[in-house]
Amino acid sequence: MNNQDNLDLELNDAEMHLYSRQILLDGWDLDAQEKLKFANVLIVGAGGIGCTTAELLARAGVGKITLIDADTIETSNLQRQIAFTPADIGQFKSDTLAKRLMQINPHIRVEFYVGKLDQSNADEFVRQQDLVLDGCDNFTTRYVVNAACKKNAIPLISASAIGFQGQLFMVDADSACYECLFPKEKMADEGLRCADSGVLATTPVVMASLQAHHALLYLGLDKSPLKEKLLLWDGLSMKQRILHFEKDTNCSTCQASLSVN
Ligand SMILES: [Zn+2]
Repeated sequence: MNNQDNLDLELNDAEMHLYSRQILLDGWDLDAQEKLKFANVLIVGAGGIGCTTAELLARAGVGKITLIDADTIETSNLQRQIAFTPADIGQFKSDTLAKRLMQINPHIRVEFYVGKLDQSNADEFVRQQDLVLDGCDNFTTRYVVNAACKKNAIPLISASAIGFQGQLFMVDADSACYECLFPKEKMADEGLRCADSGVLATTPVVMASLQAHHALLYLGLDKSPLKEKLLLWDGLSMKQRILHFEKDTNCSTCQASLSVN
């Protein structure tokens, strides 16, 4: 699925009007908005995180968004996956979300892929991007996304939400990575998933909004406030903590990326 109307080098009148509240913003100018227009962003997962992140980036004017998700829409998704309605049940999430983004902003390009991101295709998806946003629902995919981003030196912003709790962090080419933070052997039991443990409607939307916000800071202003930092959001106390994390000298993903780059 492609809209080819954003190949002009500059923002046209309709785009200037659409993004006028951003362009007017102190600290966000035409240059930042044009950077968004030329940005390629991959969103892994079109669920509770991906729906909100994708919609915000589409509205803000990110020029090319690629969505990947293997799942179909179920009734129990509708409580938090804000792009979907009862009429969409049984449809593929990535396809339905892509159509929604095109309705929201006809000036951007949207591509979607129905399937899993895995070892066989991760490099191909990741290397075309300026930024990867992970909102998937399982640790296996998270490690694959992290490794592909490190190997191809593409920045990654990863968000997750479970119950009343959320996490957000950024990994860059030269930084510590997800596996440094959460070594694989400690996560071997797959841990918690929304499907198993429940999640309040608002938790993924809060975390996705923070993820999209960080993506705009990075793409438009070259800012990386959460690089090598883990933001923890507690939805019961509404407190937020930010912890620094460091490279693990035994991390196999970081070692592998050193030999490639
Ligand atoms: Zn690492």
